[in-house]
Amino acid sequence: MRRLLSLILLVGLASINVSPEDSRPLRWYKGNTHTHTLNSDGDVAPDEAVRWYRGHGYHFLVLSDHNFLTDTAGLNAVFGAEGKFLLIPGEEITDEFEKLPVHINGLGLRRLVEPRGGTSVADAIQRNVEAIRKAGGLPHFNHPNFVWAAGAADLKGIKGLRHFEIFNGHPQVNNLGGGGFPGTEEIWDGVLSSGQLLYGLATDDTHNFKAPGEAGKAWPGRGWIMVRAARLTAVDLLQAIERGDFYSSTGVILKDYQAGEREIRITIAETGKTKHAVRFIGKGGAVLAETFDNPAVYTFKGDELYVRAKVIDSNGLVAWTQPVFPESRR
Ligand SMILES: [Zn+2]
Ligand SMILES: [Zn+2]
Repeated sequence: MRRLLSLILLVGLASINVSPEDSRPLRWYKGNTHTHTLNSDGDVAPDEAVRWYRGHGYHFLVLSDHNFLTDTAGLNAVFGAEGKFLLIPGEEITDEFEKLPVHINGLGLRRLVEPRGGTSVADAIQRNVEAIRKAGGLPHFNHPNFVWAAGAADLKGIKGLRHFEIFNGHPQVNNLGGGGFPGTEEIWDGVLSSGQLLYGLATDDTHNFKAPGEAGKAWPGRGWIMVRAARLTAVDLLQAIERGDFYSSTGVILKDYQAGEREIRITIAETGKTKHAVRFIGKGGAVLAETFDNPAVYTFKGDELYVRAKVIDSNGLVAWTQPVFPESRR
């Protein structure tokens, strides 16, 4: 367990470790880090958005309106008073380069970040990431395939960026790729195969709370992250997300996930008669192993650059665990 908490981070900031004397039990917190309200182009007020998530089993939420930082103090006083729900401040820094959207969420921002622009998609990403870091935020690059704006080549080499959206619930973001454009998983493997650490988040990018079920809308509840932390505080959650101690899901729930020096072990929470396959994926997106076992275990052979796992259930729901670079764990 503690091994997982001391991932050696390959890029960017110094690693953050939980102190060994911190003996509080870790637990999983469910949250969505990408939500719109009437503060930009969502269809409900912030309190209504919060009410939906709090009422559907979530523990934390980031309201990330376009170029707008919602004040969370008042909302936390109302909805977080019992310590069971938390709003983390956030914003979707919404920029573009030659009409290609460059959207990056800043989680835990201390102040509003204005879009920085740039001389290319990659330059705009870099400048906005730097601005988010300077404002105390954790940046995640959003929906790379929205308007087919960004690929692995744009994300490789960005300093200070360690997160992107592997899944975004908006209906126009082309998660799976197509027409010769790679899907988000291919983009992920492209960056990871260059040796750069990148974690993948699933998010809702919620815009529509009204008219649930209506075609072409961005509803809540489609993609989220499960974060392992000792306490439901912004510091604990953001540190855990920063070091990759979370997994992403569109519906598959894990009972446990351990990545040690020698192996990755995934225990799936079974539901009814649903069946699962677990794929362990490495350099170039190659499937290193596939198993139907639960727990699913992958023992490092030593020559993998990285290993990540994808759990797929028989109804099409998925969980993605974060990549580990075995060499850096010894
Ligand atoms: Zn966006
Ligand atoms: Zn958005």
